[in-house]
Amino acid sequence: LQEHIVKSTPARYSSTQACLENDISGTDNKGFKGHDMLAPFTAGWQSTDVDPLIIEKSEGSHVYDMQGRKYLDTLAGLWCTALGGNEPRLVEAATKQLNTLPFYHSFWNRTTKPSLDLAKELLDMFTAKKMAKAFFTNSGSEANDTQVKLVWYYNNALGRPNKKKFIARAKAYHGSTLISASLTGLPALHQNFDLPAPFVLHTDCPHYWRYHLPGETEEEFSTRLAKNLEDRILKEGPETIAAFIAEPVMGAGGVIPPPATYFDKIQAVVKKYDILFIADEVICAFGRLGTMFGSDMYNIKPDLVSLAKALSSAYMPIGAVLVSPEVSDVIHSQSNKLGSFSHGFTYSGHPVACAVALEAIKIYKERNMVERVNRISPKFQEGLKAFSDSPIIGEIRGIGLILATEFANNKSPNDPFPPEWGVGAYFGAQCQKNGMLVRVAGDTIMMSPPFVVTPEELDELISIYGKALRETEKRVE
Ligand code: PLP
Repeated sequence: LQEHIVKSTPARYSSTQACLENDISGTDNKGFKGHDMLAPFTAGWQSTDVDPLIIEKSEGSHVYDMQGRKYLDTLAGLWCTALGGNEPRLVEAATKQLNTLPFYHSFWNRTTKPSLDLAKELLDMFTAKKMAKAFFTNSGSEANDTQVKLVWYYNNALGRPNKKKFIARAKAYHGSTLISASLTGLPALHQNFDLPAPFVLHTDCPHYWRYHLPGETEEEFSTRLAKNLEDRILKEGPETIAAFIAEPVMGAGGVIPPPATYFDKIQAVVKKYDILFIADEVICAFGRLGTMFGSDMYNIKPDLVSLAKALSSAYMPIGAVLVSPEVSDVIHSQSNKLGSFSHGFTYSGHPVACAVALEAIKIYKERNMVERVNRISPKFQEGLKAFSDSPIIGEIRGIGLILATEFANNKSPNDPFPPEWGVGAYFGAQCQKNGMLVRVAGDTIMMSPPFVVTPEELDELISIYGKALRETEKRVE
C-alpha cells in the first residue's frame, strides 16, 4: 500500500483525465478548461481544472481526438454505436429522409411512413413475447418514463388506483430524467436531486460474486433474491405494486449478468401478484449478448420493453417502448373513454431517426450480426478473462460483447482499494495513453465494443488491456 499513490492521487484526481494530466502526460487539448457546457456526469472541478477529451471523428471501432490521436472505443460511445463510427448506409438513410421529409410528427393520427414501418419491424422482431404496439421516444430515459405512465394509465383504467408502485433493483441504470433516475438504483443519481420518487422501491442487486453468502450456489442465491422480492411485495401489499423493471444484463451499474435461474424465479413471483414485467433492453437489444434481445437470452416474457441506443446505432436519437396486447388493449379502450391517449413528444417517431433505425436493423439482419457477435465474443470474453488471476482483479464478468473488470484487494468483494488510490482511474488512464477508451466507474472498468469490432481490433484491445493492467499492478503492489 504505497504512500505515494495516496499522495499523487487525491480523491478528486481519481479520474482518468486527471491521471493523464497529472501523472502521465497532458492531453494537449489545451484551451478548453472552464468551457461553457454544464457537462453530464462530470464534476465541476473536472471541467474547470482538466482539459476535456474532445472527440472529432470516428471510423469503425475507433475515434479520433482533436489532435488526431486514435483510440479504440471499447464502450461504443455510450454502449450504443453498434455499427461503429462511419457506416455509410446510415448516413445515406438519414440524408435521403432529410431530403424528402425532414420532419413530421405523429400526433392526432397523423404520422410518417418510416415510423409506421419501424413500429411494424420491431413488433415482428421481438418474439420472446407477442407485442402489439410500439411507442417512440427520443431516448432510453423517455422510454422508461413512458413505461411508468403507461402502467399507471393501465391500472387506472382497470380500476386499480392503488396499484402504482414500481420495483427496480439496486445498481440498475434506467436513465436520468425524474422518473427514470428514480428507477435507477445508483445513489449518485438520487443524491441532492430529491430522488427517488416515493413510489419507487429498490430490491436486491443480483450480483452473485459480491452478495452471495458463504457456500451459497448461484441457484440458491437466485432463490433467496426471489424470496426477498416476494417478502417485500407482501409487506408493501401486492395490490400496491404495479410493475417490476430490470435490465437483462445490468449495464452501467457494473455489467452484471444474472445468476443462474434468476429471471425464472423473479418472473414467477411477479406473475403471482399480477405485477407487470418491464424489460429494459436499452443496452442488451439487437445482438449485444449474442441473441437479438436480452429477453431471448434469459427466457424473459415481458409485458413491456424499452429500447434505444443500438436501435439506430446511435446515429440519431431514438428510443421505443413495446407494449403487449394485454396492456395495449386496455390503453386503447381507456383512450376511447377519455378522448385521447395524451402522451407523446414532438419528436416521437421522428422520420429521420426512424429511417436510420430501419436501416440499422436491415444491416443487423443482412450481416447476421447476432451470429457475428457469437463468433467473435469468445475471443473478447476469454481473452480478457485470462487476466482474472491478476492479484488486483476481483472479478471479470460478462457475456457476448459486454464485460466488466472489478479491481479489488485480495480478490475479495469485501476488500476494495481505498477510493483515493484511484486504481480504476489509473487503469483507465493507462488505456487512454495507449490508445483505448474504457468506461471507468470507481474501480470497475466496463466495455461494450461495437458489434463490428474485428478480431484484429480485439487483439489490440486485449494487448492494451494487458499493458494497462501491468502498469496498474506495479502501482498498487
Ligand atoms: N436504460 C438503460 C439500460 C441504459 O443503459 C440507459 C443509458 O445508458 C438508459 C436506460 C437511458 O438511456 P438515455 O441515456 O438514452 O436516456
